[in-house]
Amino acid sequence: MSVRLALYPGSFDPFTLGHLDIVERASRVFDRVEVTVAENTSKKTLLSLEDRRRLVTESTSHLDNVDVRSFTGLLAEYAVSRGACALVRGLRQVSDFEYEFRMAFANRRLAPDIETVFLMTSEQYALVSSSIVREIHHWGGDISSFVPPPVLGALCGTPGSDPI
Ligand code: ADP
Repeated sequence: MSVRLALYPGSFDPFTLGHLDIVERASRVFDRVEVTVAENTSKKTLLSLEDRRRLVTESTSHLDNVDVRSFTGLLAEYAVSRGACALVRGLRQVSDFEYEFRMAFANRRLAPDIETVFLMTSEQYALVSSSIVREIHHWGGDISSFVPPPVLGALCGTPGSDPI
């Protein structure tokens, strides 16, 4: 039987506990999950593509069937080239839906054999977003309940390291 690979694409700027919750759920549903860290061409990111990829890798190291890659380009074409059967996206609230709906239709038109699968986040992460984390971090607030330890270490500094 062929291995069912799902891609979980996003900017992950930075990777949050909400993202991790979705990766863990996807890893239970699919044989393999690739977190696809995308270059974000529409906005300037807080973290570089390489830093984002590294922090997702460190934050998901406990999951055997998950790996992490970065990519630049058209997601639908990339997903076909990877042999993926699905794109996973997380839903927090109704306001996510309209954007996700449009993306899913565009991706289906470009890659008809790949299904977009929406997974619902846990209640406690429904209000967590990368942009809220960036805002709190910008003003020096405590982000420890929003991000996994490697991201906290990178943004706020661990003993002996300089924060980003
Ligand atoms: P993008 O720039 O592609 O929207 P993000 O990194 O913001 O990338 O989000 C990637 C995916 O993770 C999206 O499907 C988004 O809805 C989902 N997501 C973001 N935050 C959460 C969360 N707290 N719980 C569940 N899903 C989330």
